[in-house]
Amino acid sequence: MYCNIIPENCIACGLCQIYAPEIFDYDDEGIVLLKKHSDKQQQIIPSEETDNVLIAYRKCPVRAIELIKET
Ligand code: SF4
Repeated sequence: MYCNIIPENCIACGLCQIYAPEIFDYDDEGIVLLKKHSDKQQQIIPSEETDNVLIAYRKCPVRAIELIKET
C-alpha cells in the first residue's frame, strides 16, 4: 500500500500523527509530512503500519491522506 499526503489540504489538526506516529510528522506550522521521507509526498507503507495508517486515513477530516493499493 502506498500513502500520499496532500499538504495543501492539511489543516494541522494533529490526528494522523497520533494514530500513526511512525509514518506522519509535521513541519514548523503543523502541516503533515512523511516522517522518514520528509522531502516526498508518497511512500510505501510497511505491513506492520497498515492498520495505523488506515485509522489515520479515516480520521483525517480533510482527506489530506490518500491510500493506494499496490497492484
Ligand atoms: S489528520 Fe489530516 S488534517 Fe490532520 S494533520 Fe493529518 S493530514 Fe493534516
